[in-house]
Amino acid sequence: PARLGILGGGQLGRMFTVAAKTMGYQVVVLDPDPLAPAAEFADEHLCAAFTDEAALAQLAQCAAVTTEFENVSADAMRSLAQHTIVSPSGDCVAIAQNRILEKAWIRKAGLETAPYQVIEQESDISDASEAFLPGILKTATLGYDGKGQIRVKTLSELVAAFKQHQGVACVLEKMVDLRSEISVIVCRLNNDTSMCFDPAENEHIDGILAYSIVPARLPESLQQQAKDMAKRLADELNYVGVLAVEMFVVGDDAQLVVNEIAPRPHNSGHHTINACVTDQFQQQVRLMCGLNPGDTSLLSPCTMANILGDVWGEDGSEPNWLPLQQHAASHLHLYGKKSARKGRKMGHFTTLAQDANQAYQWAQDLHAQLKK
Ligand code: ATP
Ligand code: MG
Ligand code: MG
Repeated sequence: PARLGILGGGQLGRMFTVAAKTMGYQVVVLDPDPLAPAAEFADEHLCAAFTDEAALAQLAQCAAVTTEFENVSADAMRSLAQHTIVSPSGDCVAIAQNRILEKAWIRKAGLETAPYQVIEQESDISDASEAFLPGILKTATLGYDGKGQIRVKTLSELVAAFKQHQGVACVLEKMVDLRSEISVIVCRLNNDTSMCFDPAENEHIDGILAYSIVPARLPESLQQQAKDMAKRLADELNYVGVLAVEMFVVGDDAQLVVNEIAPRPHNSGHHTINACVTDQFQQQVRLMCGLNPGDTSLLSPCTMANILGDVWGEDGSEPNWLPLQQHAASHLHLYGKKSARKGRKMGHFTTLAQDANQAYQWAQDLHAQLKK
């Protein structure tokens, strides 16, 4: 069987690996962590730094290579691409890992972002910055789960926040009147061949995704508009693979604003494993192999709930899985991580129901029962 390579062996790499193995491929995972969640299922775990020449040379032998996270070296991906098929491209990954480039590309595609100002040095802060207050100062690179973000109301708070970020390049984003958050996952092979999953409605708690509800409880026309926007962005990037586009629904007139993109399967797409004809990890496998995307149809309304380390006991004891295991329409997925830190994504579950509200209700009830 063909060997597929992946940069990163976290939970996304793990679910990719399981999908690829199930589909008849072998998988090589590069991840410096000896306990990387994907290692359990991989044919080969290259336990080395992402920049390790020897490990990259081995990945270059694979029939195709992909990534599970955006903070991989785009240059490493570009050089791999001289030897094998790499998707998404290093160029797309470079855009997704930098909010300044990312926002410029979103606007270039003719889509809205929240009003923003690039702040690369303290002197970029001026009276003109007032137009973006109250706002959020986000580091241009390396932020996730709300890390690297400081909310600011005044110019002096902004100056202090920029200092707190130690002068690294930032984007000051105006707070928008958020009514709900959605994400669209696009599966794109080329200009003529791309498919979207239905938008997921995302609920965050403390800056971390808590629930994804599908179908999103929004008008059909708005959902279609979101899909068209995500596709347009993927086309503009000439993107190959699975691309997640996070959007805000803003104001009384429900304007769609693009927040950020992820060049990979996304946490808000985990429900596709149990509730769609083809799941997002199977799509990643298919697209990196040059195959058409599979059917993205939703088979059942559902809700995905994240399971964070927070529901483990103080003494490290596991949550009570029994209610989830007993439930007639829920699917539990654990990532095999050894230590359960607060805020760490340890697993997720998906509930399926006749309608999204019921699935969401079950997910909340089941989640509440995890903590003994
Ligand atoms: P992740 O990559 O884990 O999704 P992140 O750290 O990159 O998160 P963002 O997605 O930019 O952060 O923002 C996190 C959350 O903060 C958003 O999901 C949204 O709830 C809120 N938020 C971000 N930007 C704005 C904004 N301009 N106005 C209002 N709320 C915002
Ligand atoms: Mg992000
Ligand atoms: Mg986000």
